[in-house]
Amino acid sequence: MKRYKFKNLNIVYTERKDGNMRDKNTRENLLKKIGLKYIYIPKQEHTNIVAPFVNMSAPADGLYTDLKKVPIGILTADCMAIVITDFKSLVVLHAGWRGLFSGIIENGLKYFKDKSILFAYISPSIRDCCFEVGQDFIERLEEYNIDKKFLIEKNGRYFFSLQDLALEKLKRGGVSEVIDENICSKCGDNIFSYRNGDIDKRVLTLAYLE
Ligand SMILES: [Zn+2]
Repeated sequence: MKRYKFKNLNIVYTERKDGNMRDKNTRENLLKKIGLKYIYIPKQEHTNIVAPFVNMSAPADGLYTDLKKVPIGILTADCMAIVITDFKSLVVLHAGWRGLFSGIIENGLKYFKDKSILFAYISPSIRDCCFEVGQDFIERLEEYNIDKKFLIEKNGRYFFSLQDLALEKLKRGGVSEVIDENICSKCGDNIFSYRNGDIDKRVLTLAYLE
């Protein structure tokens, strides 16, 4: 587990050794260690929906809150968890390529009026060293109007940078400061990776404001 504090924003991300955060008991043990009583996690389905945390019954891949000391979190295994805050309110996003292409970052940014003071954080996730994509994926880039500059060719194989696309979307949306954790979930050993066989296991990235 790694913990960060940026001003009044707290971020925690878990690692392989902390266990499978899909498991409720494992999650509760973690919360105890951090000193939290509960956490809100959306019903993640690779959508582009960002909902206020009180509306937890429908699928969403992002949560918003303006309440202090209310932790909201995202489960991942290769996808990015992205935190966006103006330090008065907070959004957490589950951003794999589907969410990213269909506008989850843009939908998250809609919750903030003054974009110039925004800070964002990108969790450990699969990076262009490992995120190999096929022809069907490359065709989707055109379908969603995504710039091919995020595609990298190495010896006839194609890799894609989810983080660089996220960074561009965040900057274009007005976010002034972005911290990218810069850890690959697949070739780094510490993070669960769907593409590395961790099909049912997830790490958790959570955030809350004080
Ligand atoms: Zn890698």
